[in-house]
Amino acid sequence: MILSASWVIPISSPPISKGAVVLHGSRIQDLGPAADMVKSYPGQEVRDFRGAALLPGLVNVHSHLELTLLRGYLENLPFWDWIRRLTRTKYELLTRQDLEISAMAGACEAIRAGVTTLGDAMDLGTSLDAFAASGLRGVLYQEVFSPRPEEADERLTDLEGKLEKLQGRIGIASGQRPRSGASGSDRVVLGVSPHAPYSVSGPLFRKVSQWAASRDLPVCIHAAESEEESLLIEKGKGPMADALRARGIGWSTPGCSPVQYLHGLGALVPGTLLVHCVRLQPADLPLLRKSRVSVAHCPKSNWKLGHGSMNLKRLFQAGIPLGLGSDSVVSNNSMDLFEEMRFGLFNPSWFNRGDGPVDAGCTRGGFAAEQALQLATLGGAQALGLSGSIGSLEAGKKADLIAVDLSGIHTQPVFSPVTAIVHSARASDVILTMAEGKVLFDQGTVTTLDEAGLKKQVGEIVQRLKPDGRA
Ligand SMILES: [Zn+2]
Repeated sequence: MILSASWVIPISSPPISKGAVVLHGSRIQDLGPAADMVKSYPGQEVRDFRGAALLPGLVNVHSHLELTLLRGYLENLPFWDWIRRLTRTKYELLTRQDLEISAMAGACEAIRAGVTTLGDAMDLGTSLDAFAASGLRGVLYQEVFSPRPEEADERLTDLEGKLEKLQGRIGIASGQRPRSGASGSDRVVLGVSPHAPYSVSGPLFRKVSQWAASRDLPVCIHAAESEEESLLIEKGKGPMADALRARGIGWSTPGCSPVQYLHGLGALVPGTLLVHCVRLQPADLPLLRKSRVSVAHCPKSNWKLGHGSMNLKRLFQAGIPLGLGSDSVVSNNSMDLFEEMRFGLFNPSWFNRGDGPVDAGCTRGGFAAEQALQLATLGGAQALGLSGSIGSLEAGKKADLIAVDLSGIHTQPVFSPVTAIVHSARASDVILTMAEGKVLFDQGTVTTLDEAGLKKQVGEIVQRLKPDGRA
């Protein structure tokens, strides 16, 4: 099978005008000028996407698919109220089946938006069903919570049990390395997520980190996201500290930044994905680099929840592996990596002239449309530890790719396909989504999920929820 298009954008090499990608099963066999590919691989079916660009599937490094049906439910709330209402809604008003439908709806949205890989944090394990059914690729982090130090052993045992069950569901035998995948493929990777410094006790962080490292499990942690979190960790004050005290939970204030606190607990093992990193102290950056952790940049979620913006310029210049994340649609309210790319480009940190040298040829210190697109593809793949198999179009890599239509009035004319994609295109311009050589979205239809049925089911579930969760 040969896919040809007006442009092929491999990311790891320059764009090819009138290019083609040759697929063989689940992998990319070759790519180059369309005329050469057709000549080199005679007899292959050729599908042409004229006016469109072929590029690697987008990588959304941070999502919570199971919360999709709460889009727009919790608006204009202070962060601590927002997170408490979200938790209460999840546990008291929604069932496991509701969250399963929610995760399926989120998978549908991702596929339509050209996202082929996600780093998804899940509480009830329902995302696994969504990934299995939808054909999406993902690193699925099972969340663990408990700020009570005395519960650490019990929660670790719970987590071990949950992981074993999840592994059983994707066909990994007990004792096998969990990074190996489902049914002979590595499409779904399981990991763990000790949620955040304010929701996980120090002893639980230590135990989960040691256990995950011994099992080679990927880890994801929400860190340095909010002012409330910084107040708790740095000063032992604020609404999070008050809430811990009100619940009779012992808390000795670390008196340092959240990143330094996590480092002290042994939680920053290489490859750990730190989500947000909005509130960093100067000493944190070298620590992040030395620890070889990755960072999930979720610009829209950070703005919408009122946290401000990560210093993208400093993290980018420090060479820390970075990917873009939508976060849950409860704090976004859409999964559209095109928008996240633009938010990255318009990050206020690019104006901080004091933060190191600025490339004279670029107002954003070397960060332009090309780098934004790199973050949404290969950068995200690196942040998730998957860049050996996805993130760019290269012979031998997985056939995870999308076609983006650039023929619309809002994208015309196209002087540079990368500029058109990053500055002008939208998620709705995606016309083909393919993961592991399998078509997930084509000609306006998600092929692996019942989109109309899911919309109906979501509509029925939300009848039970009162507007804005303040009831
Ligand atoms: Zn999150």
